[in-house]
Amino acid sequence: MNASIPEIFGCMVFNDKVMKERLPKEAYDAVRRAKDEGKPLSHEYAKSVASVMKEWAIEKGATHFTHWFQPMTGITAEKHDSFIEPFGDGEVIMKFSEKSLVKGESDASSFPSGGLRATFEARGYTAWDPTSYAFVKDGSLYIPTAFCSYSGEALDKKTPLLRSMEAFNKQALRILRLFGNDKAKKVTPTVGAEQEYFLIDKEVYEKRLDLIHCGRTLFGARPSKGQELEDHYYGAIKSRVSAFMKELDLELWKLGVYAKTKHNEVAPAQHELAPVFASTNLSSDQNQITMELMKSIANKHGLVCLLHEKPFASVNGSGKHNNWSIATDLGENLLEPGDTPEKNAQFLLFLLAVIKAVDEYQDLLRISVASAGNDHRLGADEAPPAIISIYLGEELDAILNAIESGKEYFAKEKTELKIGVSVLPPIPKDSTDRNRTSPFAFTGNKFEFRMVGSSTNIACPNFIINTIVAEELRTFADRLEKASDFNAELNALIKETIIAHKRILFSGNNYSAEWHKEAKKRGLSNYKTTFDALPHYADKKNVELFAKHKILSEQEIHSRMEILLENYCNIIHIEALTAIDIARKEITPAVIDYQGFLLDELKLKKDYGNIPCGLEENLLKEFANLAEKFRVSLDKLVVDEKKYKTSWSNFNKAKYCKNTLLKDMEELRNYADQMELLIGKDFSAFPTYEDILYSVKY
Ligand code: ADP
Ligand code: MG
Repeated sequence: MNASIPEIFGCMVFNDKVMKERLPKEAYDAVRRAKDEGKPLSHEYAKSVASVMKEWAIEKGATHFTHWFQPMTGITAEKHDSFIEPFGDGEVIMKFSEKSLVKGESDASSFPSGGLRATFEARGYTAWDPTSYAFVKDGSLYIPTAFCSYSGEALDKKTPLLRSMEAFNKQALRILRLFGNDKAKKVTPTVGAEQEYFLIDKEVYEKRLDLIHCGRTLFGARPSKGQELEDHYYGAIKSRVSAFMKELDLELWKLGVYAKTKHNEVAPAQHELAPVFASTNLSSDQNQITMELMKSIANKHGLVCLLHEKPFASVNGSGKHNNWSIATDLGENLLEPGDTPEKNAQFLLFLLAVIKAVDEYQDLLRISVASAGNDHRLGADEAPPAIISIYLGEELDAILNAIESGKEYFAKEKTELKIGVSVLPPIPKDSTDRNRTSPFAFTGNKFEFRMVGSSTNIACPNFIINTIVAEELRTFADRLEKASDFNAELNALIKETIIAHKRILFSGNNYSAEWHKEAKKRGLSNYKTTFDALPHYADKKNVELFAKHKILSEQEIHSRMEILLENYCNIIHIEALTAIDIARKEITPAVIDYQGFLLDELKLKKDYGNIPCGLEENLLKEFANLAEKFRVSLDKLVVDEKKYKTSWSNFNKAKYCKNTLLKDMEELRNYADQMELLIGKDFSAFPTYEDILYSVKY
């Protein structure tokens, strides 16, 4: 089995190897140029690629092709066309033209556009992205594409990511040239996204309307055993889960996804998969494939994969650690502390670009991970707070402090550190412990952004990170290119940047109350909810940033903000309706039944005569009191839901969702959960947390 993995890996992908083998040399070279240098592919070569791609796909069992894209809905979209074309009298041939490869027309009217596309201009189009690979899945050839309106505005998550990678490359190359590197032709931001998820049994899932409609439980009392014993993290993997993971790995490998690490996570029923990193674009496509396969393969095993950020209160939610770094086409990692003086100063400059970017665009980073689901996770004692800060580690902290104060820095081997290209000693790799509570932590040669939610499309956080760091590199390059004394200017720039942005550095416990106070003193932003964060998308400085680097126009930003706000409202409104349905149709009858049962028992005992009834009486009182509070809060939710008007602006709807509907739901849940802890097992309205979290037994 093992011996054949290299053969299996990527066998369903139209990758570089296949193209090299099958395409005429000139066509192959043209595709490489399109991929590596963004040069457009001529008709002639595109024709050649289409024909070879079709032959290959048919060999792999494909009968259809689809332009695979990532609209703003948060999931991927696909529409399948078969290769058949009528030929002669009642016969068909298999056809796939250059046009079908390169561009697809699509009715965009049912995808969110946030007001970008007037309804009379319903057409959108999908454009082939040659920097990601086509693949065959379920009998279809999947062609990764960007999705735009007819006038060219981005309607998807991939387009800004591709634009940001270009902007990043341009600015990073300017810096490299300043350090005398004229060999690197391309600089690419890379990412490896660790995906957390829950796996539960399908039978219990089907009895939970909240999980079905909302992906999270709206009710559910704490289980008597949660994650306190820390016995799930890295624990032995159960055989059903293991069978699922094996099949998942195999299918991912066939599709060229670098699935690498798998293990149990902290909460019961929670697991993680980490891939080997790749360019932000490829990794982002691969993460979408991973999430889709997790769901479909779980289903084959009688399981359900939950990707929601907080499916269960009282145990950890799921995130997606976004490990971000910078690679050159020569295989160098620019965030690797170097071991020669030149690389060392260069490393510090890239590091400071990230620090400055994170400080100046805290709001955008928060927005990049904002969703109704992730709001339940951020700020709980398991995930970073909504306040952004950077953890560098002791060694780098000390180095930056020394530079700032103009003092000498003595590394462990007592070498003096001066910033100046000629005299820098190597920066030692940090040996200190990692800080698990930091939202943005430097981990040796990459930054780990830990606020990303498990269901987030990582294209969003990454296009933001790429853009904000590109902007800082631009300001650095502008200044250094003009300098008459490069070393002196570099020294000054490094020192000034540290002084101006050190407020974003924090190495303590991000979960503590003191940090919240301290962060406020430092003037760091703290947008607790999606509703608080989103309006800042269109702040002047952000509009200018995206325009300068040609990532998003002001109109595109507004459209995105509207879509995200609307999505937030829709999710919470659906949750409110679902909570009402469950409360009325499932919890209420169970409550009435149980009270009836207690009353019957009491009556029997009283009829019988002189026996103690304390148990039934007390229970009934306690239960009836809660039932009454439950009724009152249900009535309030019902009334408040009726006041919600879909005709309001997204902003007003979102405000109402946050301030009223979410609060009502919380209150209702509180009473329902207290009753759940008292009610007899046979009277329970639906599977409890215990039943769900331990539903996969072996
Ligand atoms: P952890 O201790 O957080 O689990 P790992 O070393 O296992 O860290 O790496 C986690 C993720 O970081 C993996 O997905 C890995 O591919 C990714 N990663 C490692 N190096 C880089 C890099 N240079 N750029 C982007 N991601 C990287
Ligand atoms: Mg990690």
